[in-house]
Amino acid sequence: MKPEIWAEVVTVGSELVLGQLVDTNAAYTARTLSDVGVDLAYHTTVGDDRERMAETFRAALDRCQIVITTGGIGPTEDDLTREVWAEVLGRELCFRPELWEWIQGLFKRAGFKLAPNNRRQAYIPDGAEVISNPRGTAPAFCYEKGDRIVFCLPGVPRETEPMIKEEVLPRLLKKYDLGDQVILNRVLKVYGLGESNVDAQLKEVIVSSENPTVGLQASQFETIVRLTARAGNPEEALSLLDQGEVRVREKVGPFIFAQDEETLAGNTARMLDERGLSLAVVDAVTKGVVCSELGRVVSDNLFKGGMIFDHPQPPAELIAKAREQFKADVCLAAAGFPEDDRLRVDVHVSGPDAQSERSQVFGGPMRIRLNRAGTMILFTLYRFLRGD
Ligand code: ATP
Ligand code: MG
Repeated sequence: MKPEIWAEVVTVGSELVLGQLVDTNAAYTARTLSDVGVDLAYHTTVGDDRERMAETFRAALDRCQIVITTGGIGPTEDDLTREVWAEVLGRELCFRPELWEWIQGLFKRAGFKLAPNNRRQAYIPDGAEVISNPRGTAPAFCYEKGDRIVFCLPGVPRETEPMIKEEVLPRLLKKYDLGDQVILNRVLKVYGLGESNVDAQLKEVIVSSENPTVGLQASQFETIVRLTARAGNPEEALSLLDQGEVRVREKVGPFIFAQDEETLAGNTARMLDERGLSLAVVDAVTKGVVCSELGRVVSDNLFKGGMIFDHPQPPAELIAKAREQFKADVCLAAAGFPEDDRLRVDVHVSGPDAQSERSQVFGGPMRIRLNRAGTMILFTLYRFLRGD
């Protein structure tokens, strides 16, 4: 039997312990390692305190073969992680001239002034291997001893996440016998059915699918269908995911609006792009939520403009206003009309050769109501562009 490999991620930062910052590094690391068959045994978080950090790192190294720390490797006085690792590993911190040169070059090219403290980042424990950080200034490192391996990574997720994929995973696959299991996930995002309904539609698929497994997760606006496939190689895993996806699409296909990292607004913008259609938005219900979501992702030359009204007006009139003002290919208009203690939202979409209308009633607290209405309005535009 192959030995069990345990991993621990230690996220460093007082803001994390105090709850001022949400720890996304731990979640990302756990998910990514489990893709190659390594499950986290522990996730610990420690503040920027030398003694507590040392105690935590020692405990992690004691109980797990793989220890990954994130954070605390910047140039400031409270960035202690490299020093604490040197102490715990019993190695001197060594100055690496090539790192110092690299850091100096980076600052020069960016036009930033170097502070004396930046030199601290050119020190790493004796015997450690430098991991370059192309997206930041703090070099990372890894240190191996016997069956143990330590990764000391930066805290900024934009730097940490690609490093886990590009630097950590390959080293783990090389060092440990993780079996030839590849685990791949695919996420399909479903709108507008409510979780229990999606559950009912997919029940048979969920129960009968073993590889890939199919699971559901509800959020406020969408239901996430997650497929997880295990196989001997990535091609086989992908093909299993494709087969699973076909079964899911047979049941809820028209309501799937995005896959994996894609978003509803992003996919809507992509369709406008593909067809070269310009857009104008008139919003008399969400106080601009819809305009801003689309404005962020629709190409500049295709977003003709938006109007926001604080009182409801018939969408047909709003469309007429948008046409006159913006001369866009596609106009989206939405208005909210109070009905008892609920809100009816009417949406119109008008394109070069088709129209679409939709109406839905929302209850619940105002903020949530408006957000849910915003998603419904976007989804109406999305389905219109998709042609159904
Ligand atoms: P820097 O060079 O910016 O000092 P660093 O590697 O020392 O980077 P930290 O100082 O610990 O990292 O964190 C920098 C920023 O990165 C934090 O302010 C926070 O925005 C983000 N960050 C750090 N750790 C995490 C985490 N576990 N999850 C999400 N974001 C984090
Ligand atoms: Mg820092």
